[in-house]
Amino acid sequence: MSTHIASKSRWIKCISTHGNIRGVAIQATELVREAAKIHGLSEIGSRGLGEAIVGGLLIGSYCKAGERVNLNIQGAGHYKQALVDAYPDGTVRGYVIERPEEEIVRGTPAVIDEIGPWGQGLLSVLRTKGEEGKQPYIGTVPLLTGYLAKDLSFYWVQSEQVPSAVGLVTQIKDGKIASAGGFLVQAMPGATAADIQAIEAHINHLQSIGDDFTPDENPLHLLSKIFQSTAFVVVEEKPLAFSCNCSWERVQRALVLVGLEELKAMLKEDHKATIRCDFCTKEYKVDADGLERLIEQVSFPGERN
Ligand SMILES: [Zn+2]
Repeated sequence: MSTHIASKSRWIKCISTHGNIRGVAIQATELVREAAKIHGLSEIGSRGLGEAIVGGLLIGSYCKAGERVNLNIQGAGHYKQALVDAYPDGTVRGYVIERPEEEIVRGTPAVIDEIGPWGQGLLSVLRTKGEEGKQPYIGTVPLLTGYLAKDLSFYWVQSEQVPSAVGLVTQIKDGKIASAGGFLVQAMPGATAADIQAIEAHINHLQSIGDDFTPDENPLHLLSKIFQSTAFVVVEEKPLAFSCNCSWERVQRALVLVGLEELKAMLKEDHKATIRCDFCTKEYKVDADGLERLIEQVSFPGERN
């Protein structure tokens, strides 16, 4: 398990004193910088992964302890796919697959410039209880606008019936990630139209939320702006970290699944295999002896201990 502490990255959760509106703001500048560095991303890639990571954390922030959120976004725009695993303890891992510029289909109805960088596609949220995944909850909505924040708001309304507002930002200045973060505000039972309108008005008046997520900026400032006419209390502050739980044992299990013929081919042609974790880019190398042991395991599964 490799854990990278990005201590200034954190979320702050709050709730109105009437208990009818809740919100979370995430400051993830250092975390997204680190994720982009690990994956060696371009500016466009950094922006996409930043949005997806913060989006995953926003969902993860309201999950129960022990649950895992998997946010899977498949788009027709600049990004083919983003996969993010987020946990309510504030850890997250993820990657994005960019689509080369020449492969982006322009023209109606998927005019990228009009519908946002993600293009059209699908947004799925899988919630699993623990590692064994008992009765996972899956919600899928179409990407309608191609803007992840808007499409995530739509997800909450459509899939979970919770009126929500989402903001996401990954600002890039001079080729570097200057800020990354986001917010989620949700109307809970008992929220009146007036309560919601007051919050909406403040969200609409936010200039650029990017400026609220510089590395030193406290996400509480953003909550204070959004909740400026609604009394609220902070209920949780949690540091966030990019963390991958890949391990040699998991890689071995995955290799066993590729099958006997494939393993034999690896042994014969390369005498070794290198497996790279998509989430954190860590490489696991298996030599010829290791491959032979795996081939034995697959050939005689009964003799496995
Ligand atoms: Zn990994």
